[in-house]
Amino acid sequence: MYKRQFLGTIMITQQTTAPQSEHHVGDTPMLIAGEWTEAADGRWIDVESPRDRTVLGRVPRGGAEDVERAVTAAARAFPGWRELRPRDRGDLFRRIADALEPEQERIARLLSLENGNAIRTQSRGEMQFVVDAFRYFAGVAGETKGESIPLNSLVLDYSRREPLGVVGAIVPWNAPLMLSALKIAPALVSGNTLVLKLAEDAPLAVLAVARICQEYLPEGVLNVITGYGTEAGEALTSHPAVAKLSFTGSTAVGRRIAEVCGREMKRQLMELGGKGAALVLDDADIPSAVSGIGTTFSFYSGQICTAPTRVLAHRSVYDRLVEQLAAYAGRLKVGDPREPDTVVGPVISAAHRDRVESYVELGRKEGAVVVAGGERPPLATGFYIAPTLLADCTNDMRVAREEIFGPVVCVIPFEEEEEGIALANDTDYGLIDYVWSRDVARAFRVARRLRAGGVGVNTVGRNMEAPFGGFKKSGVGRDVGSYALHAYSEVQSIVWPG
Ligand code: NAD
Repeated sequence: MYKRQFLGTIMITQQTTAPQSEHHVGDTPMLIAGEWTEAADGRWIDVESPRDRTVLGRVPRGGAEDVERAVTAAARAFPGWRELRPRDRGDLFRRIADALEPEQERIARLLSLENGNAIRTQSRGEMQFVVDAFRYFAGVAGETKGESIPLNSLVLDYSRREPLGVVGAIVPWNAPLMLSALKIAPALVSGNTLVLKLAEDAPLAVLAVARICQEYLPEGVLNVITGYGTEAGEALTSHPAVAKLSFTGSTAVGRRIAEVCGREMKRQLMELGGKGAALVLDDADIPSAVSGIGTTFSFYSGQICTAPTRVLAHRSVYDRLVEQLAAYAGRLKVGDPREPDTVVGPVISAAHRDRVESYVELGRKEGAVVVAGGERPPLATGFYIAPTLLADCTNDMRVAREEIFGPVVCVIPFEEEEEGIALANDTDYGLIDYVWSRDVARAFRVARRLRAGGVGVNTVGRNMEAPFGGFKKSGVGRDVGSYALHAYSEVQSIVWPG
C-alpha cells in the first residue's frame, strides 16, 4: 500500500512555471496514519530552492480534512503507545538514530537545497543534531519518574507525570530538522502521539527523516502534514482533540495561535522571535566577541532566533569592535549553500530578501552608518544578502527593536555598565542575550540582571541539556533536555491514606 502510493505519486508530472531543478525529487507525500498520502483535495505546493529558484519537488497542500484524519489517527494510536514502557519507546528512537546515520549526508544536502543553509557550517550540523537528539531522548525516556510526598503521618501523595495525549506541533523553515527533532523525540518518548505541521518553504528534509522514523514507529504515532499555516496550521491549532500545541515561529503567528488555544484551555509551548543583545563590556576579549557576534552573519544567514543581532558595546571598545566586526563580515564567502567553502547561503525567499533589504534601507534613513555589506552580492541567481553591519545605532531605531531575521547586526554604544544593562532589557523580546567580559564573576552578575530566557557568557554555544525558551514576547514555556520531558507531560497527584 505504502509503496504503491509513494511510487504512484512520484509519477505525477509537474505543472509549474518555474524551471525544474537538476536535483528534482518529485512529489513527496505526507504521512497520515502510517500511510504516505496526497491532500484530500489533490492540491500540491511547489518547493523552490532559494539558491537558484528552481522547483525541487512538490508536497501536498494539506487542509482541514487531512488534519482531521491525522488527529484521529494520533488519538487512536495514543492508548497503545502510552502503555509501552518508556524504555521500549526509547529503544525505538535508538534504532531510528542508527538508521538515520547512513542517510545524514543525503538529507543534509536536501536541506541546503530547500532552505539555503550552508552545507558545511549548518546543514550537516543540523542533521547530526537530529541523530544526537534522538539518542539523547532515547536515553532519558522514563526519567520523569514520580515523587512521593508524605503529607502527614497518615496521608501520602504520589505525584507522577502523565502524557498529554495528541500533541500538535508547528515548525518554521529556518532550522526545520533540528526544531522538528526537538518536538518529535521528547513528545513521543514521553508517551504522546504527534501531528507535526511542516513549514511550506522547507518540508522535504523533515519528510525524509519521517520516512525513516515510520519504519520503526506504530501506525498513527507520528503524523506529518504539509501545507500552509492559514490552512493546515489553523486546522491543527483549533482541533478540539489536540491537547497541546507546540509552536516554533514568529511572535505574530504565536500570538494568533495562543488566542485560539486559549479559548479551549489548550496547553501551549511557544518558542518565538528574538532580538538578542550582546553586551560587550570594557574588559571584553574582543576577538572572542567578534567571532561570537559574527555568527549572526555566518549561521543560517542570520535567520536564527538566537542570533546576537543587537550589539551593545562599551564606548572604550566600540571602535575596535566595529572595525573587527566589519573585517569579519567582509571575509565570509556568500554563495551556493552546497559549495564546501560557502559560509553565508541565500535567505529563504525573494520576499524575505526584500524585507531584510528594506530594513537596511530603513537603518540608513534612521541614521545608522553601513560599515559592511548593504549591497546585494553580484550573484546571478538566488536570494543572497551580504553580511551587513550597521554602526552608530540607537536603541529606539526600528532596526534595533524589530527582528530582521537576516545577516544584519546593529551596534549601539554605551558609557556605563548600568546603562548597558538597561539598554539590553529595553526590548519586547527576551530569548537569549550574551555578555562578554574577562571577569567571569562580573559577567555572571550582569547575566542575572538580563531579562532573557538564556544568557551566553563569552560564548554563543548552546547545549543539548540546557533549558531553552523566552522571557517576554519570545515565548512561553521551556524545552530541550529534561525540560522537554516536562513540556510534554502533566503532573498528576495521587493521594491515599498511608
Ligand atoms: P512563521 O511564524 O511565519 O511560521 C512558522 C510556522 O507557522 C510555519 O509552519 C507556518 O506555516 C505556520 N503558520 C503560519 N501562520 C499560521 C497560523 N495562522 N496558524 C498556524 N500555523 C501558522 O515563522 P517563520 O517565518 O517560518 O520563521 C521565522 C520566525 O521563527 C522568526 O520570528 C524566528 O525568530 C522564529 N523562530 C523561533 C525559534 C525559537 O526557538 N524561539 C526558532 C526558530 C525560529
